[in-house]
Amino acid sequence: MNATAIPKTRVLVVEDEPDIVELILVHLRHAGFAAVAASDGVAAQREIDAILPDAILLDWMLPGGQSGLDLARKWRANPRTREVPIILLTARGEESDKIAGLDSGGDDYITKPFSPNELMARIRAVLRRRAPEQLSNAVTAGDLTLDASVMRVLFRDQPLNLGPTEFRLLHYLMKHPDRVHSRAALLDKVWGDHVFIEERTIDVHIKRLRFALGEAGIMIETVRGAGYRLNPKQEI
Ligand code: CA
Repeated sequence: MNATAIPKTRVLVVEDEPDIVELILVHLRHAGFAAVAASDGVAAQREIDAILPDAILLDWMLPGGQSGLDLARKWRANPRTREVPIILLTARGEESDKIAGLDSGGDDYITKPFSPNELMARIRAVLRRRAPEQLSNAVTAGDLTLDASVMRVLFRDQPLNLGPTEFRLLHYLMKHPDRVHSRAALLDKVWGDHVFIEERTIDVHIKRLRFALGEAGIMIETVRGAGYRLNPKQEI
């Protein structure tokens, strides 16, 4: 079974010094990020208009009319880019500069020269801080709502109590409704391939999941000889 392609976290690097750009891109890609670079504000805006990045590394001193601070202020003021974390890169290390950088809308600030490992750690940290907001768009199926950011499942606005495995199983089924999932596929997608458990174990968790869902449990359908399916249109 091929894993579903998960879009890579995209980082835009706005920096005009080619050596630094090269260094950062190599490390970002090695760490599994999709990385793109822009050498000034105009090029950066073009990238953002095409695909909204998940994070921006922004050099303070840029050629052209716009400094990193100008760009940070502009992106913070725009609803489309407001939530994108920005890390300012700068050769300046004074406290007043740091304050100006954070005031302009930067989420973090890193002074050149920096170690690539430190930069990667900072990127992960700003992404983690933003993650709850980004994940808060809940999944719904019929009258069921699941919000992974707060580990909550509601049926007709009433909270349900699910164990962690049942929660992950339901999350997967709700993200892929109507499709029939074989036990092997569920094992692969929900448990991952490092866990050695029997396919019959899935049946146990499905049973627990149905029980935990109460009335909504009938949305989880058994497809004989094939596996399981979540039917969001099931009459309850
Ligand atoms: Ca520069």
